[in-house]
Amino acid sequence: MSLIEDRKDSSGKNADVVYCTFCPSKILNAGAATFVNIEFSLPEILCKKGSEGTSREMISDCWMVEDINCFENIGVSHTVENVKYLACADCERGPVGWHDLSTYKSYIALSRVKHEKPNSQKK
Ligand SMILES: [Zn+2]
Repeated sequence: MSLIEDRKDSSGKNADVVYCTFCPSKILNAGAATFVNIEFSLPEILCKKGSEGTSREMISDCWMVEDINCFENIGVSHTVENVKYLACADCERGPVGWHDLSTYKSYIALSRVKHEKPNSQKK
């Protein structure tokens, strides 16, 4: 679990910039999301665009985003029951997370995105 601790800053927000794992598209700036532990069954990422997967993966470690406008880039794919699946805005691979239509909160699975230290902050 130390890996997750390294991804958070002292207030529980994302210390790193969040990118798509498949392309250079930036999803979240550092500090835009809060770490939450929430159980959700998310369909597996498919490399072929438009194809529907049947296998699902249990997600528990997520970045919670209060407002969908806090995303740098995000694509919204189809709606299933009370959620909209979120995908990369550029390459459309996903889902990388989901948007809850009842709370308007969005969740990004830590395991489905790439984390990089902000370039602007040199240490
Ligand atoms: Zn992408």
